[in-house]
Amino acid sequence: MQTELDSSFGAYAYSFQRKKGGSMSVRPILVVPHEILALKAEEIRNIDDRIVTLAADMIETMYVAPGLGLAANQVGEPIRLVVIDVEWAHAEPKHRKKNPIIIINPTITYSEGEWVKEEGCLSVPEFFVEVKRAEKLEIAGIDLDGNPIGIEADGMMARVLQHEIDHLEGTTLLERASSLKRNLYRRKMRKRTRRDQ
Ligand SMILES: [Zn+2]
Repeated sequence: MQTELDSSFGAYAYSFQRKKGGSMSVRPILVVPHEILALKAEEIRNIDDRIVTLAADMIETMYVAPGLGLAANQVGEPIRLVVIDVEWAHAEPKHRKKNPIIIINPTITYSEGEWVKEEGCLSVPEFFVEVKRAEKLEIAGIDLDGNPIGIEADGMMARVLQHEIDHLEGTTLLERASSLKRNLYRRKMRKRTRRDQ
């Protein structure tokens, strides 16, 4: 998929390593119907060590899962932070290079076109649904150093951005599905939980 992000990847990786310098840890990913997944995430006003550590941990968690992106609410922090790497998980192992993007307080400033494709979500296991998304986007946000950033994206990158921003609004893939499909899924999961107890 095409994106126009290539030239900025390096800078993000650099600022992250310089600040963090330590180890990362994988955090548990919440699954529906956890209440934090339904919260509207709070804007980040101060990029302190807690945020830097959280971003590092989210990146590690995303690669281990593996996923194409992760929003902070998915690891229990209802704040406006997302990490994305749409290429790593689909690259051949020997060509894999980690180029995570970190966006704080992302907002969609422009969108264009429509594109329907099936999506999955780490917080909604074993659930896949076709979702209509904008094809092209412009996003404004800030990086880990507090600098304003603008991102133009299309294809998969645009899709993942919209999916992660949905999470920040408390919307999961379940709410993007028909009520029939949603209820079937909930029933299936309830049954499974009962069996496991
Ligand atoms: Zn998700």
